[in-house]
Amino acid sequence: VSIKECSVNDLLKGVLSFSAAMLRKENVTVHLHLDESLPKIMADTEKLKQVFVNLIVNAAEAMPSGGTLDIKTEQSENLVTVTFSDTGEGIDLEEKSKIFDPFYTTKKAGTGLGLSISYQNIKLHEGTIEVSSTRNKGTTFTIRLPRKKHIS
Ligand code: ADP
Ligand code: MG
Repeated sequence: VSIKECSVNDLLKGVLSFSAAMLRKENVTVHLHLDESLPKIMADTEKLKQVFVNLIVNAAEAMPSGGTLDIKTEQSENLVTVTFSDTGEGIDLEEKSKIFDPFYTTKKAGTGLGLSISYQNIKLHEGTIEVSSTRNKGTTFTIRLPRKKHIS
């Protein structure tokens, strides 16, 4: 692992430009709501980018006939929060407790590893990842990461 100071906004922009062609092909419209004064965090950028890619791919897969993906960054006193909200098929209550388990998938050719790896990657950063969802309405994943501590 290599932990360094980084901007979550810049990581998101990088991952999105990398995913732009796929998102366009899948008729997914992305709305970015970035807090321009978001504080930097200490992170393994490769691992965080992997989490963001997984969430974006899952969102696109949950919207087979297209939809909207809202990505938002926010700050609070101790945290940087990143949310991914899609307008896809949603997740049932019974499924919700299993989606972070390794190998749990509802897809024909799924590995079921994306969210379990994401969970581990966020845990490594002493952060949290949570889901809220409504069947046939959409799904929101919320990632909370500790802010870089000020050195005084
Ligand atoms: P995979 O994508 O290979 O199935 P993941 O670990 O990425 O594995 O996701 C596990 C399961 O969680 C998916 O199969 C799907 O049922 C559910 N899921 C994940 N993200 C979403 C989403 N944005 N909308 C609806 N269901 C989702
Ligand atoms: Mg996946």
